[in-house]
Amino acid sequence: MGFLAGKRAFIVGVATDRSIAWGIAQAMHREGAELAFSYVEKLRERVEPLAASLGARLTMPLDVTDDAQLDAAFALLGREWGGLDILVHAVAYAPREALTGRFLTATSREGFRIAHDVSSYSLTALAQRSQPLMRGHRGALLTLSYLGAMRSIPGYNVMGLAKASLEANVRFLAADLGPEGIRVNAISAGPIKTLAAAGIPGFRKMLSRVAEIAPLRRNVMLEDVGNAAAFLCSDLASGITGEVLHVDSGFSTVGMSFPLEGEN
Ligand code: NAD
Repeated sequence: MGFLAGKRAFIVGVATDRSIAWGIAQAMHREGAELAFSYVEKLRERVEPLAASLGARLTMPLDVTDDAQLDAAFALLGREWGGLDILVHAVAYAPREALTGRFLTATSREGFRIAHDVSSYSLTALAQRSQPLMRGHRGALLTLSYLGAMRSIPGYNVMGLAKASLEANVRFLAADLGPEGIRVNAISAGPIKTLAAAGIPGFRKMLSRVAEIAPLRRNVMLEDVGNAAAFLCSDLASGITGEVLHVDSGFSTVGMSFPLEGEN
């Protein structure tokens, strides 16, 4: 029996079979969780067959900037499941102009607002609606961050600020929901080639820097993130909340990297 047997997980953020949310869904399915998926309307035809392949009965449209869709999604979960154990938030967006060129010139008031709304506020909005369904369920919320929350990274621009907000969001939600037995954590993942990543300039350089410098000398794969996510959302991680776990081949732990004299 898998370590998520009997758990019900709502997965927000699958776009394709390369999405990090898809890697997480596969790991959670393998460990016995029952899954529901949301999709943005234009991706419905891509997401529904993926959901069906993991036996999911529940799929629903959800644009996280739309309160009416948020309410409808959780009303459906409440009707069909009555409760919820796990929420996965794997959603981020910034307008292309905000990710083009220097941070100083690329960052408009509107680009800043949209990046923070879609990529950080949405976690609070999902948590507000998950809380009543998670009561008595030892619930777990999980989101996805990136090193740009803590360090400047060329081209990541306003997404770095939105991820910093998201990581603070995790800590504030953890403090608020902890007394009710609900845990809130983030995984800060190393770069993985996905649809969202395609919008980040210099992404290929990010991949090659990680493979060169990270202690594990390789990039992370969907399985690496999926397995860590399944653990964090399981009762095996019952003492962990408010945490940002780096699943990045150790890249974020390295201060400098160069061959010592006499080495290659
Ligand atoms: P992805 O493109 O597969 O997933 C992004 C998802 O966000 C998509 O499913 C998209 O539909 C959804 N989304 C965007 N705007 C939305 C909205 N308004 N309402 C609802 N959904 C919306 O890319 P991914 O890389 O799997 O991204 C998932 C998460 O992982 C993001 O938070 C991303 O920042 C984070 N992350 C990615 C990497 C990476 O290198 N790929 C690294 C660290 C963190």
